[in-house]
Amino acid sequence: MQGLIHYSLHLVFPVLVAWFFYRKEWKFVYLLFLATMLVDLDHLLATPVFQANRCSIGFHPLHTWPAIAVYVVALAFKRPYNILALGLVFHMATDFIDCTLSYRQCAQCLNDSPLRPAMEWLFN
Ligand SMILES: [Zn+2]
Repeated sequence: MQGLIHYSLHLVFPVLVAWFFYRKEWKFVYLLFLATMLVDLDHLLATPVFQANRCSIGFHPLHTWPAIAVYVVALAFKRPYNILALGLVFHMATDFIDCTLSYRQCAQCLNDSPLRPAMEWLFN
């Protein structure tokens, strides 16, 4: 179920946004959104590359708060940078939702997470 939510938000939701908000060029915009998935290449820098229940937000370099701040600022840039920024902000939101779903199943993962202060601030 978590995987379904994750990939729907990464792949299907951007189609809907492109279709409803960029109707005339939705295919181009969707391609830009898909291109923002390349941000996950930063996972290759981690050891191990894949670890169950590891939250990418706050861990991988392009998923840290300073990087996310850059994506938010870039929303104000000209096209196509603002569209790429929108895709990146969506991506971070999707990964964040994924982290919250993981932590519901693994309390210890939350204890060890750099995201713990943000989660406590949000949910307490
Ligand atoms: Zn990611």
